[in-house]
Parts: sequence; structure tokens; C-alpha cells
Amino acid sequence: MDKESFPNVSEICANAMRTPNTLARPSSIPIYPATVYACDSADQADELLEYGDRGYVYQRDGHPNADILAEKCRLLHQAERAIVTSSGMAATALVLLTQCQTGDHLIVSKHAYGKSISLLQNEAARLGILATCVDTTDLEEVANAIEERTRFVFVETVSNPRLRVSDLVGLGKITKSRGTLLVVDNTFATPVHCQPLRHGADYVIESMTKFMNGHGDVTMGLVAGKSEGWQRIAAAVSTWGFRAPPHECWMAMRGLKTLWVRMKQASATAGEVAKSLAANPLVKAVDFPGLPDHPDHELLSQIFNSEPAKLEATPACGPMITFHLDTNRQGVNRFIEKAGEIPFFPSLGDVTTSFSHPVTTSHRKTPAEERQNLGISEGTIRLSIGLESAEWILGVIQKGLVALDL
Ligand SMILES: *Cc1c(COP(=O)(O)O)cnc(C)c1O
Repeated sequence: MDKESFPNVSEICANAMRTPNTLARPSSIPIYPATVYACDSADQADELLEYGDRGYVYQRDGHPNADILAEKCRLLHQAERAIVTSSGMAATALVLLTQCQTGDHLIVSKHAYGKSISLLQNEAARLGILATCVDTTDLEEVANAIEERTRFVFVETVSNPRLRVSDLVGLGKITKSRGTLLVVDNTFATPVHCQPLRHGADYVIESMTKFMNGHGDVTMGLVAGKSEGWQRIAAAVSTWGFRAPPHECWMAMRGLKTLWVRMKQASATAGEVAKSLAANPLVKAVDFPGLPDHPDHELLSQIFNSEPAKLEATPACGPMITFHLDTNRQGVNRFIEKAGEIPFFPSLGDVTTSFSHPVTTSHRKTPAEERQNLGISEGTIRLSIGLESAEWILGVIQKGLVALDL
């Protein structure tokens, strides 16, 4: 800092200082919390604001932590473009707001995350965008629901809580031939297990809050896709205010460093736990696509990356398991209490194994009849496997199971 021009403490205090240009390559990138970046001249401001990708001006428009993280995610998904957002829901909202306008139509999987359905069906309806909710595991039902103004079909790679797998190849063929887009929420699979853009998806969404960050301490989302039409997505993040903040991006960057090893380990453990629960007489049924009796087992080899699968006896399909108990609310409360060493988190994707109870959490707003159609009952428990051993997890679950009939 030039001493002459800042003689007073107040001015020294207030000075932003210059970031030194350095050749240093730190092992962890710096956090850039700056809300704004100084411009050297009117010409430079003009250039930076005109092109958007030559430097930074305002945090909501872009900052280094978001760009570096998005680049890592772009590579993970083998996408042409990627952008990170302030939540998984912001990512879905971004696709809705950039792809649709009043009078357009959407197709939404009835197996999708409850909040995604309510965004794409109820909120979108207020903007004059109507959605049809269909069973996207039935390709004919999807094809029949496509209208002239259908802008996209929205599915999840693996759905919650029944873990139905979407036939991305089949859906991609239909959407392409009918001139519409396929948007895939890949939160349960992550790019370790599936890269939907390679199988016919036009846009992929992740809630990075879950496995991508993996440590239960960041809320963020991701959209990745093709260069075509990307300009609107990049601009909308700024206009609608969906930008993820620098600290969150830095945290997610750190979480992402261990994504591969976390997913590989947790998926292998999930295979063991699922097999054991399926053989347990106290468990009524188990949903796990890696088990041969799951209705979508055959799809795994088509759309799931073979590399992690090869390493396991059971094909790797991610760390999520759903199981069904023949019990009521009281029984479930008892189960959760007695198996309390595994926390009941209404979320997923942490290094800590957790339970969720769809009827009182993710599907609390779903009408009882629809829940029954989806095969979700009071006794339905969802398990997000973390990094503890299969043996320990099964031991804790057994404590809950034997308490069911007390
Ligand atoms: C959690 C979740 C979302 C929403 O993500 P947030 O980061 O909580 O906004 C969307 N889809 C799926 C499948 C999820 O599990």
C-alpha cells in the first residue's frame, strides 16, 4: 500500500488492499469472499461486464470458488458446461426458469423428490407452466404424455424411497425423437455411479448437499449440460440470485476430493447390508437395485458405471437402501429409539449412516392413497449408508428389529 496516499488509520483500515500476483500453487485454493472486484479502468469494466468470462466484477455474477468447483463437476460429468447453485432446489428451479415459459408443459416423474414435484407442478403452474406427473418407469406412459409444448421430462436416476432406476437410454431416445429434453436428478447416484449425459440426458442436476459434498455441512446444487443454450443458464444464475457463496463452494470442493472413495466404500457396504436385511425374517421386504429381485436390476449394467461395480460382488448402485417393516407408527418409533446409534436424519449422503422415515418426512405431504400406490407405508425405512462397517450397521439395525414386537 502506498503510505503517502493513505496517511490516516481510518483510511488504512478501510483500504481493500491488492491481492498479490504470485506463482504460488497452494494445495488448497484460497477462499475469495469478495462481493466485488475493482476495475482498473472504464474500458476494463466495459470488457469484463460485456464478456462475463474474462474476470470477476460482482460475486452474484461469478467468483473463483464457484468456477473452480463447477469445473471439477463438469469434468466428473463429462459435460460441456457446468454451474453450481445455492441448493439442489435452486438447480432444478434454474432449469425450469430457463427452459420454459408460460404455456409450456412438463412431464415429471411421480417417483421424484417431493419438493421437486411441488416446484415443477405447483409453483410452475402459477407461472402458467403445466406439468403431468407420470410413472416414468413405464416408457409408453411417458411417450403418451408428451405434448406439442412439452419442454422437458424430469426423472431421477435412482428415486426416493423405492430406489426405482430410470431407463435413461430409453427415455433419451423418446425425448430426442419427440423434440423435447431429458432432465435427470442424479443425486442418489452421483457421477461415480452414473453420468446421465452419456446416456441421453440433456441436463443433469445434483443436490450437492448429499453425497457430492458428503459431510453434512454444505447446502448446494449443480446443473451440467451442453454448450448449446448455456448462455441463458449462466445469466439466470445471476439474475435470479442462485449463485452459491464462496465458503460453501470451498467446503464442497474439499468434500468432493473424497467422493470416489466414499461412494465406493459406502456402496460396497450397502450391498452387504441389503443382502443381509433381505435374508432377515424380521424385515418384510428390501428395495435395493443391486439385488436380483429388484424390478430395475437389469438396468444397472446399462447405465451405471462398470468400474465401481466390478470391484464388488453385488453390482454397485449407490449407498441407499429402503426396507419395509410389518409395523405401525408405535413400532417405528420403537425401532428408531432402539437403533438410536444410527441417527434419524431426514436427509442422506453423509459419511455417517442415517435413517429416514418417508411417511413423516419426505412424503408427509403425499396423499395417503398416492403413498400406498408408491408402496410407502408406516413401516418403510430409508437407510443412507456411510463409512461404518456393514457388521456394525447390521448390529444396530438388529437391536431395533428385535424391539418391534415388545
Ligand atoms: C435433497 C434433494 C434435492 C434438493 O436438494 P437441496 O440441496 O436440499 O435443495 C433434490 N433432489 C433430491 C433427489 C434430493 O435428495
